Amino acid sequence: MTVIYEKLAVIGIGLIGSSVALAARRAGAVGHIVGCDADPAVMPEVEKLELVDSFTDDAVAAVADADLVVMAVPVGAVGALAAKIIPAMKDGAVLTDTGSTKRSVIRDVAPHLQPHVHWLPSHPLAGTEHSGPAAGFADLFTGRYWLLIPGEVPEDEVARFENFVTAMGSVGERMDADYHDKVLALTSHLPHLIAYTIVSTAVDLESQLKNDVIRFSASGFRDFTRIAASDPVMWRDVFINNDEAVLEMLQRFSEDLSYLQRAIRWGETDKLETLFHRTREIRRSIIDAGQS
Ligand code: NAP
Repeated sequence: MTVIYEKLAVIGIGLIGSSVALAARRAGAVGHIVGCDADPAVMPEVEKLELVDSFTDDAVAAVADADLVVMAVPVGAVGALAAKIIPAMKDGAVLTDTGSTKRSVIRDVAPHLQPHVHWLPSHPLAGTEHSGPAAGFADLFTGRYWLLIPGEVPEDEVARFENFVTAMGSVGERMDADYHDKVLALTSHLPHLIAYTIVSTAVDLESQLKNDVIRFSASGFRDFTRIAASDPVMWRDVFINNDEAVLEMLQRFSEDLSYLQRAIRWGETDKLETLFHRTREIRRSIIDAGQS
């Protein structure tokens, strides 16, 4: 594989940042990888795991001479980070992020943009409930979509970044930021909100019942606890920064839940069965699309 970016800087060496470093190195898509994290405590782990070629806790030093800078930090931290690093980036370098919301990130970075940097917001649709440098793995992005919001970036730079995500095993797809936030509100943010709610409902049960819920937890509840174990800071930032779309989807969800509630109350078996057949079809289409 030919090198696509000579020097890659990854800021935020958590689940996503460490996976980018591992996947990019495995693909041979970059020459040198410099890592940076706000938490100096991660440094020994980053070194032990040999995630990057060099490491610093100074974001400005990390981006010097980098051809591609990936901000893999919680979405609420992206604006301030961009303000700090953009003036230190080299001419013609590409700046991207991996944030789960796109409108807020674009809004927060906009005041700090400078013409010498290509700002190409993005979002890999891949993740787990784990966080931190040890959570990353090179296969995280394999077969998963990586959404790009090209904006004003010249076509050759967008194509080059697409080649980079393809080299990491991902499937690049261009999208508009508004549409991205709506789709993700339903496919990712709402399911996380529901999981956090169900698990907190269990926590509020009186203690004997709560113990038995944990002891006899069936796969349905177990799956929710896995999702509800996701990083608290990352998800706090996602809900606050995609509030409009999440609230809209939540409103629709509440209406659909009332429909089911009513069908159960009135013993309307046909309504329940018809709906469950429809949802099973959706599961089949996801499997057919290779995204299960
Ligand atoms: P993570 O495992 O919690 O890692 C984030 C790392 O960034 C932490 O080590 C954090 O340090 C560090 N950090 C925070 N602010 C920083 C700053 N200003 N400069 C340098 N480092 C900073 O998070 P993640 O799961 O990798 O998520 C990273 C981004 O990817 C988020 O925007 C998230 O929305 C997005 N994303 C996540 C997933 C997922 O499933 N997890 C999937 C797709 C996209 P501290 O711990 O000290 O704050």
